[in-house]
Amino acid sequence: MDYPKQEKEKIRKRIEELKKEIEYHNYRYYILNEPIITDAEYDRLLSELINLENRFPEYLSLDSPTQRVGIEPVSEFSTVEHLTPMLSLSNAFSDEELLAFDQRIKKMSGIEKIEYIVELKIDGLAVALVYEGGILIRGATRGDGVTGEEITNNLKTIKTIPLRLWSENLPDLLEVYGEVYMRKSDFRRLNKERENQGESLFANPRNAAAGSVRQLDSRITAQRKLDIFIYRAIFTNMEKKFTTHQEVLNYLLKIGFKINPHTRVCKDIKEAIEYYHQWIEKKEELDYEVDGMVIKVNSLALRRELGFTTRSPRWAIAYKFPAQQVTSIVKDIVVQVGRTGALTPVAILEPIQISGSIVKRATLHNEDEIRRKDIRIGDTVIVQKAGEVIPEIVKVIKEKRTGQEKVFIFPEHCPVCGGKVFRSKEEAVARCINLSCPAQLKESIGHFASRDAMDIEGLGPAVIEQMVDKGLVKNISDLYFLKKEEIQILERMAEKSALNLLQSIEESKKRPLSRLIYGLGIRFIGVHLSEVLSKHFSSIDHFRKITKDDLLKIKEIGPKSAESILLFFQEKDNWWIINRLREAGVNLGGEEKEKIKEKDLPLKGKQFVLTGTLQEFDRNKAKEIITRLGGRVTGSVSKKTDYLVVGEDPGSKYQKAIDLNIPILKEKDFKEMINR
Ligand SMILES: [Zn+2]
Repeated sequence: MDYPKQEKEKIRKRIEELKKEIEYHNYRYYILNEPIITDAEYDRLLSELINLENRFPEYLSLDSPTQRVGIEPVSEFSTVEHLTPMLSLSNAFSDEELLAFDQRIKKMSGIEKIEYIVELKIDGLAVALVYEGGILIRGATRGDGVTGEEITNNLKTIKTIPLRLWSENLPDLLEVYGEVYMRKSDFRRLNKERENQGESLFANPRNAAAGSVRQLDSRITAQRKLDIFIYRAIFTNMEKKFTTHQEVLNYLLKIGFKINPHTRVCKDIKEAIEYYHQWIEKKEELDYEVDGMVIKVNSLALRRELGFTTRSPRWAIAYKFPAQQVTSIVKDIVVQVGRTGALTPVAILEPIQISGSIVKRATLHNEDEIRRKDIRIGDTVIVQKAGEVIPEIVKVIKEKRTGQEKVFIFPEHCPVCGGKVFRSKEEAVARCINLSCPAQLKESIGHFASRDAMDIEGLGPAVIEQMVDKGLVKNISDLYFLKKEEIQILERMAEKSALNLLQSIEESKKRPLSRLIYGLGIRFIGVHLSEVLSKHFSSIDHFRKITKDDLLKIKEIGPKSAESILLFFQEKDNWWIINRLREAGVNLGGEEKEKIKEKDLPLKGKQFVLTGTLQEFDRNKAKEIITRLGGRVTGSVSKKTDYLVVGEDPGSKYQKAIDLNIPILKEKDFKEMINR
């Protein structure tokens, strides 16, 4: 549709207004922690903007807050040159070196007393952001200091990085440096999720932040919770307006940047050293990792006078916190079996105190690590604990060996269930792949009962915990042989809830094969691959004779998943369980499935989006029906969407579908469609 010029101009102005307003509320919320509108009001502004941008894509611009969600992956990053080289700092390792630093400055400048500004040194990833006319145009990693990798789209997903700045009076060109980091709490959550999914863990928050910010797919970056502190600015035409670094930081905060609140001006080096010592212990209270302090001259005039050496500024120095290392003795090495079956060797130590906590164990990561460091039972070792990292053994003091030390032999069988241990070529981790291994049982039952799997209502963690501890359930198939009397002995389980639970267990027998495959918890096989597998192999029995080639012929299946599938179905115990499921009447695919020919799939190739609450179906059920009939459910409305199914209280998808002229189905219409 052609809009009159005036109309279009109005819309362009409204988009500009909305962008400014939304970024301002981001600033109030994320930087100042002082929101002035409700979440609902904020969502309204955002959805108005999304709408207008969809209708008038010519006005979609790089600085729009709608661009924070990440975009299509790139194959590699391009390199960019920093406007000014990002120099590294020289280091001090003792108070004396800091005093010497102060002496040098006094001597060079002839000034008696130097004022310093002291900042926490955040343990993250240094980045440079460039703003032109107040708009973020580029973001890059530090790289070698001269050139870095261009990661603008990834950095845009960090909510505390302003896409545009606030002030009437902004520099034409501004480059700021900051440290991207992951909060300790988010790091723990991320690692927990990865552990549950059988993925490798990040060693510490810094690695997690660096790995997240350097993702080729910025949509993954957007899912990781990252944050930033800005600590330096380079202006083209305003530097002379400020006399101290502190004024610069205050200004940066005012125009939209996040500044660390613990930065402090110290009247002399003595006060700076005192401030440093306060933080050695206090840093543990922060939700982010700090590995030292940076001491900078506060006066900008003095900085200009001092200048730079070839490698670093003369007016700043980093003072790292001491690494906490203590010696101990390895009393034993034991193997723990994690919830995903991973076998982790752990050193049992003579108890020691590090950074205020007692340490009795240290992780040895895996077999290779033990061999590489040549750690033996009885060895005297140096143990280190830094921040979020689990205590680890840095090295063996071999001079202290007596010849009595014992070399550790990694077990070939799971120490918990006696099942065979498998070690894949690609990863160093050894795993127990026995489905009924008690070490993994609670987790695997929970997964089996989860909504995307067999969806057994009422079978939550507390119930599972008791069932396993009381020995009622030794593997997933036991669920189907439970009796009411057995369930009733569990705590807080009245007769009615026992009956309800039995009822939902009964109902779960009818779930489609894909849900069962997913529920088995085969490594690397998520919801999507389970659906793919169930489409290719219509019955579980097909997996008996399957070969790696059969699997690799399927385009979605890579070598890693293929190997994992084979391993799972080669395990005899797992077939014993599958056969008990068969005995109980659980749907394992088969004839019924084969009856549905492609031409009988009425929704074949159709894309659906769901919004609002449906009366008769929950999301999963509606999704399952659509998929069974050959359709597909996606998360957001686009031109490719064929139908939007609308329930009560629809979200912004509803308006979007109207705007894009996409057919809308009420629940009644949808029911008709699936019943035909
Ligand atoms: Zn086991």
